[in-house]
Amino acid sequence: MRLKPQVHLPHCITNWFPLAIWRMPIEKKTVYLTFDDGPIPEVTPWVLDLLMEHNIKATFFAVGENVFRYPEIFEQIIDDGHAVGNHTYHHLQGLKSDNKTYYKDIVHANKMIGSNLFRPPHGWLKRAQYRYLSGKYKIIMWDVISCDYNQNITKEEVLNNVLEFAREGSIITFHDSLKAESHLKWVLPRAIEALKAEGFEFDKIEFPKVRRLVFSPALQRIRRLRNNLRQLGLRS
Ligand SMILES: [Zn+2]
Repeated sequence: MRLKPQVHLPHCITNWFPLAIWRMPIEKKTVYLTFDDGPIPEVTPWVLDLLMEHNIKATFFAVGENVFRYPEIFEQIIDDGHAVGNHTYHHLQGLKSDNKTYYKDIVHANKMIGSNLFRPPHGWLKRAQYRYLSGKYKIIMWDVISCDYNQNITKEEVLNNVLEFAREGSIITFHDSLKAESHLKWVLPRAIEALKAEGFEFDKIEFPKVRRLVFSPALQRIRRLRNNLRQLGLRS
């Protein structure tokens, strides 16, 4: 069995967050490229051009303060047909944040990002945060982390992390960040070419939006009951 926990987490770890999405359906030979921490002018437009060239749709987990700084790049991501997800406003670490601050930061980011997808910065959450956020978002984790941000490994190792572990339904994590820039710009074109050559297709991550409360049958029943009471003069 292949084991490289920093790239591909074993089940005993992923089972901690069973409601989170670690891998997409495995029936099709499709992988899901994801890009965290952008948008920034130095990297994100370059990624968008490359994806456009290959006609690939991907998913961008945006940091709210970067969206605020570079709204035109964020709009370009949407215009190009990619999916976007919430990665908090200040790239907060769940484990180091009190819950209220953490949730507020996510809501603040979502005023601009407007997504039902959430990926926790640094990939981890407290149990209470996980439970609370699972009711509001699809929490998207990963099947393969490229480690493109890690300057202690070579670009060849980053490429190898992707190609060795990518499989049907893999959610593959890259970063459109300055830290990852040099690795990413070397690795991503090669990873795409190699995965294509292996017969993989690419798609973005989408889930139907969680049904809003106003449409819920329970609420409609309560409204009907209130109207009936009003008509009977029992309630103003
Ligand atoms: Zn991040």
